[in-house]
Amino acid sequence: MPFCDFEEKKAYQKVWWTSHPSYDRERIAKTKVKVLTHYCGGKPHCVCNGEDCCHSGPCEITDIRVLTIDHINDGGTKQRKELNASGSLFYRWLVKNNYPEGFQVLCYNCNIVKFARDRQNVRRHREPTK
Ligand SMILES: [Zn+2]
Ligand SMILES: [Zn+2]
Repeated sequence: MPFCDFEEKKAYQKVWWTSHPSYDRERIAKTKVKVLTHYCGGKPHCVCNGEDCCHSGPCEITDIRVLTIDHINDGGTKQRKELNASGSLFYRWLVKNNYPEGFQVLCYNCNIVKFARDRQNVRRHREPTK
């Protein structure tokens, strides 16, 4: 009976959506704005001041589509791994944990530059110049 199958499928989909609330895009966006606003103490913007970056002077990008939470003392990747959370789950984790300290808002550009710079520093640290 195909009709039964259809009903079953509908029911299954309903369960799937309720068990995957992170797929609610609108809610993800709202959570992200909330988290970014908190860490910026106001309107979300990139806090990079241009020091050692790909631009000079403050970055101040405000487009939330390119803004991201950066772990100030790095270990962000490690922490995310421990949390087993990325993207939307990470934002929700921050809210749940009362916005822990040690995070800042950067745009993707500045985040990548910082990441590359930190890696360079690590290498320099490991291989002292003769
Ligand atoms: Zn930036
Ligand atoms: Zn920058």
